[in-house]
Amino acid sequence: MKPKNIKRLQTRAHDLKVNVVDRHTVVVQSTTGSTANHAVTVYYDNDGCIHARCTCAWAINGGVACSHVIAALEKLAAKRGRALSFWLSEQEARRQKRRLFYLDSGRENNRVWITSRST
Ligand SMILES: [Zn+2]
Repeated sequence: MKPKNIKRLQTRAHDLKVNVVDRHTVVVQSTTGSTANHAVTVYYDNDGCIHARCTCAWAINGGVACSHVIAALEKLAAKRGRALSFWLSEQEARRQKRRLFYLDSGRENNRVWITSRST
C-alpha cells in the first residue's frame, strides 16, 4: 500500500511532534486528539534503500510512508542540514536531479521515492 496523496501526507507530518532517540529510533507524537505515540525505526542501506518501520496500523498492515515515518525521516534529515521531498513514482523523483532514496516495502513496484537537497 502506498499513500494516495503524498504531498498532503507530508503536510500532515509537519503537525507531528518528533523526538529523536538516536539515529535509528524516533518517537512520533500526534499533536491532535490521539494520545498514542508511535515508534519509528530507520535503517539505511548503501544503495539508497531505507528500511523504516512504524507501530501505527497503516504500517503494521503493510503500508509504506505513513505520516510518522515521513516526519521521522524529515527530522533526521534536518539534523544533517537536508530537506526531503517524497514521490510516488521513480520517474518523478529522478526528474528532480537530486540525491535519490527509496522506502523499502518488500515489493519493487510498491516503493515511495525520496529526494534530498541541502537547506
Ligand atoms: Zn506510522
